[in-house]
Amino acid sequence: MTENRNQVRIFDTTMRDGEQSPGASMNLEEKLRIAEALEGMGVHIIEAGFPIASNGDFEAVNEVAKIIGESIVCGLARAGRKDVERAAAALEPARQKRIHTFIATSPLHMRVKLQMQPDEVHGAVIDSVSRARNYTDDVEWSCEDGTRSDHDFLCRCVESAIKAGATTVNIPDTVGYALPGEYAALIRMLMDRVPNIDKAVVSVHCHNDLGLAVANSLAAVQAGARQVECTINGLGERAGNAAMEEIVMAMRTRHDLLDFESGIRSEKIMRASRLVSQITGFVVQPNKAIVGANAFAHEAGIHQDGVLKDAQTYEIMTPESVGLKKSTLVMGKHSGRHAFREKLRELGYGDFGDNALHEAFTRFKDLADQKKEIFDEDIIALVDDEIGRASARIGFVSLAINCGSDGPQQATLKLAVDGEEMSATANGNGPVDATFNAIKDIFPHEAELQLYQVHAVTEGTDAQAEVTVRLKEDGRMVNGQGAHIDTLVASARAYVHALNKLLVKRQKTAPAALTA
Ligand code: MN
Repeated sequence: MTENRNQVRIFDTTMRDGEQSPGASMNLEEKLRIAEALEGMGVHIIEAGFPIASNGDFEAVNEVAKIIGESIVCGLARAGRKDVERAAAALEPARQKRIHTFIATSPLHMRVKLQMQPDEVHGAVIDSVSRARNYTDDVEWSCEDGTRSDHDFLCRCVESAIKAGATTVNIPDTVGYALPGEYAALIRMLMDRVPNIDKAVVSVHCHNDLGLAVANSLAAVQAGARQVECTINGLGERAGNAAMEEIVMAMRTRHDLLDFESGIRSEKIMRASRLVSQITGFVVQPNKAIVGANAFAHEAGIHQDGVLKDAQTYEIMTPESVGLKKSTLVMGKHSGRHAFREKLRELGYGDFGDNALHEAFTRFKDLADQKKEIFDEDIIALVDDEIGRASARIGFVSLAINCGSDGPQQATLKLAVDGEEMSATANGNGPVDATFNAIKDIFPHEAELQLYQVHAVTEGTDAQAEVTVRLKEDGRMVNGQGAHIDTLVASARAYVHALNKLLVKRQKTAPAALTA
């Protein structure tokens, strides 16, 4: 099937399985940014959503399909007719499209969830794959809960799926239950027993409930699988999916034993990790492999001494290979607009509009007045904060705070609502609470605060604060971000950002197709 026997296709499901983790919602504009980052990394297949799940998912798959050229764009569908049609409709504009259809094959799932007999499930496999093939030649079939399925039945379903036209068969460890040796044996069993298995690419999709998602995926690759489904930062349901950065760097670093090519430009890993973390508000733990803040930090004296003499003493891969450049002192208060635009281009913000550029540049100058050294991270935080604000209904204008041990903590806030400036003064249990109360006074709303999170962009007491605010309203969740040298201004900006996203969601109407 594959031209290159050592090619392992990277199938990213950050925007589908990843988004299914509670709180990790992404809006359309954010999904488009992630899709572009994934394509830039060389991801083979981008699973952009589950079109029948919601109008938002349909729209996301549809819009991603319009802008992506190099990668295959994929939409998920259950076995039913409507699911497949909906996925096909969403993928219509894609240059290269894949329909991914699935049904559970384990005795437990068939009995309890589907309430179907094995023969009926087998029939549905053939029907759904055949139907999907009417829309594209690139069809993937998955046996949900594959690792807990009966082997004879699994072989029968895989064989029939391939006969019906599936070009990829995915064997998920849906519940994160398998052990590496066992999972590799399952893949080998299918390779040995399914007569037409050479007509399809075997894929794996592992969950991390026992911390084995990456180990299981790699064991399966060694057993013959040639597609790995994974996510940036290991985002995903429950404990998450296999982390793409770990899969890619394991293959690169241990090429002696894992003689496979992922095709991923690993230097883009850090940027993608940061983007997904910033959009979802899911902070990467400091000791996370590859992308954690400490992954390349050497604290112990004996280690530092070794690394200074020869980095290979304690580093099995270079920080540069994952895109971690030394924080460089790049710009100062004398840097001009032209240099600033060049810097943005270098950081990957190619097409920044003139208005947004003006805003970002003004804020950069303010920051340069307040902060001694401006690092790349500062500019990234500031620019990310600025994206999407120009068209928003509510804009931040100014904030003054009274706080300290004696109280009352009081915030005086000015916002521009639909172009009209409004202000309020409010008290609260602390300055953050007072600030959020002032926002509620100016723009009354019912949304509930689900998360308030602060972290410093760089080191030092003059570092910018980056704040994430998660709001929930009518079961919908949005994340807002704000960055500023003043933590409270960053907090107000993050809250306003989230609120604007809720307003956009409120206005959105259903696409006609779903009502049919
Ligand atoms: Mn999954």
